Amino acid sequence: MKSVKLTGLPDQHGPFEGPMQILWRYSTRAMIIIMKPDVDPAGQEIQQLLDYLAQFPDIQTRSAGIRGASRVVNEIYLIGPTHHVPIETLERMPGVEKVVRVSSKYRQIGRHGGQLDELGFIYNGVEFSQETFNCFTGPCAVDTPDNVETMFRNMQKVGLVTARMGVYKPRTSPYDFQGHGQSCLPWLFELAGKYGIKVIAMEVLKEIHIEEIYEELEKAGRPTGVMLQIGTRNAQNFELLKAAGSQKEFPVLYKRGMGLSLEDSLNACEYIASEGNRNIVFCLRGVQSRLGDPHRNLVDFAHVPVVKRLTRLPVCIDPTHSVGSKDRAPDGLMDIFHVSAQGIIAGANMILVEFHPRPEMALCDGHQALTMQELEHYVADVELVRKCYLERVNMARQAIFKNWHQGKKEA
Ligand code: PEP
Ligand code: MN
Repeated sequence: MKSVKLTGLPDQHGPFEGPMQILWRYSTRAMIIIMKPDVDPAGQEIQQLLDYLAQFPDIQTRSAGIRGASRVVNEIYLIGPTHHVPIETLERMPGVEKVVRVSSKYRQIGRHGGQLDELGFIYNGVEFSQETFNCFTGPCAVDTPDNVETMFRNMQKVGLVTARMGVYKPRTSPYDFQGHGQSCLPWLFELAGKYGIKVIAMEVLKEIHIEEIYEELEKAGRPTGVMLQIGTRNAQNFELLKAAGSQKEFPVLYKRGMGLSLEDSLNACEYIASEGNRNIVFCLRGVQSRLGDPHRNLVDFAHVPVVKRLTRLPVCIDPTHSVGSKDRAPDGLMDIFHVSAQGIIAGANMILVEFHPRPEMALCDGHQALTMQELEHYVADVELVRKCYLERVNMARQAIFKNWHQGKKEA
């Protein structure tokens, strides 16, 4: 094991425990006070609140400033027997936006019955939240510098700054190509910097891969950023989830387990957050079932709004591994296009899709990769559907407001 210490690692035990770790231990009795956006963390309002809480000697308080996509949220966690703390009094105190009792389910990633707003994040200049949309394109696995450069050059032409690039590959057969590993990272990062790529989604299979990525990014002078991908095969590899969660250097793309219920996958994802890293995107990638035939997996993108309702996380879809082929419907659109549209129209915030300049030469998943000639059309199609989704949201908000107004008049 190398001794590289990643920056931002939260301490997990004893007096150095972070608020999230403590909340986790006591959460059946925990409460969160969310402060108004303009409240100074070192100011009078928070002091007044802490003075008031000091009269409950069994209650511990911890505060955390969480940098969301659009604002910094100051949250104060109350740990201990909170049942006799009067919510109404707290809610009336200056600077308090709301007070939430935390249920046991998805304690940190959850919305707790709609009481908590979503929390996005900005990484290397790119914003990820339940409001934004980012398209990640690239090969299943990195092979040659020439292919990677062609990919990046074409992405730059269509204005994409987010890529997918497999370097460590978990393969069903031990005889298949398992990725170039650390050796390709120097030239991969350099090329990414050359073409203005800001974030590369890259799967990691064990903790040391995170350290290798960190080391090589540092050596290269940080020309790009990496989002650590936890693949479907590792969806319940709890030690890997804890490793990804106990560093704050990289955000994490958690892919749903191919044979796991949504609940089990969300609970596994909670492991990452419970270790301290809440910069997580949850990815739907289809579930394994013969009922999905002839697609590679049964497309589960109907769960996009469900995950957005249950959690505070942005939601990604992976149409490539869901469909697994380039079959085309009689209307002229490939199933990958159709399925992408289904996820985006349901509100997906990110899409992960495989492209390769020479799919016939790809070392992994070439049969399902779109080509450079298909990139411009794909991006235009995705943008069209995203625009349509935003219009639908607008229309829904107007309808809700109209009905509410009507109801008030009739009451
Ligand atoms: C991938 O995205 O490269 C991948 C292997 O996906 P999954 O883990 O969803 O199979
Ligand atoms: Mn693949």
